[in-house]
Amino acid sequence: MTPAVQVRRAVKSFDGVRVLDEVDLTVHPGQVVALIGPSGSGKSTLLRAINHLERLDTGVVSVHGELIGVRAHGDRLKELGEREILRQRSRIGFVFQGFNLFPHLTVLDNITEAPVVTQRRPKARAREEARELLARVGLADKAAAYPRQLSGGQQQRVAIARALALRPEVVLFDEPTSALDPELVGEVLGVIRDLAAAGTTMVVVTHEIAFAREVADAVVFLDRGRVVEQGPAWQVIDHPEHERTREFLRRVS
Ligand code: ADP
Ligand code: MG
Repeated sequence: MTPAVQVRRAVKSFDGVRVLDEVDLTVHPGQVVALIGPSGSGKSTLLRAINHLERLDTGVVSVHGELIGVRAHGDRLKELGEREILRQRSRIGFVFQGFNLFPHLTVLDNITEAPVVTQRRPKARAREEARELLARVGLADKAAAYPRQLSGGQQQRVAIARALALRPEVVLFDEPTSALDPELVGEVLGVIRDLAAAGTTMVVVTHEIAFAREVADAVVFLDRGRVVEQGPAWQVIDHPEHERTREFLRRVS
């Protein structure tokens, strides 16, 4: 089976410091992978590389078997044009910590913007789908609201609906609940849990270890730019093999 996402030997440095150091990651279709690790370990950089927001120094990223960044040890094997990057990025949904909704657009227009403008889908159909997605995230009554009129949890649920509107093959979440008040975390995790049950392929960066244990098929522990440990969620979280994993889990649990 072709992996939904495959990262091989990803290397990225900032100012001479390796923040991704030969990282491998494989996500199969329908799989939920939780990416955990200390602050600064390279989790966001890895997600951003998958989505072309960050260019690797060397390494390979492919989405559904299609190579998107090939740079083997300095040799420039393939350089993607901006148009190709945009096309491939539209196959990947991205949900940020800070929601990043367009403040001047209604909830419905936030969701239809990319399908209509980038994917050139008919507006009426896009609006119909947006309403279905809003119902799915429990916000059927908020189509006409503006982001500032919503709670953080509601805004993040709109951001998830917006990501899904592109019909992505994989959705990447970068600490989707970290900016939320504690009482709003559950409603967002609940939406992600529903997506997992529906078979959505996802990579979720999270510090919610109990959630990762429950929802993720696989957990990857990243520390200082390296994959220290990975495996089934129960194994990595309940029976970590490495001291660094154990120490991290003690701190966040
Ligand atoms: P995490 O998401 O695990 O907290 P990041 O991927 O955001 O970690 O960052 C990994 C390291 O790379 C950190 O030390 C961070 O300061 C550094 N870093 C990330 N982005 C940049 C950038 N654009 N310029 C310089 N350093 C960066
Ligand atoms: Mg981060």
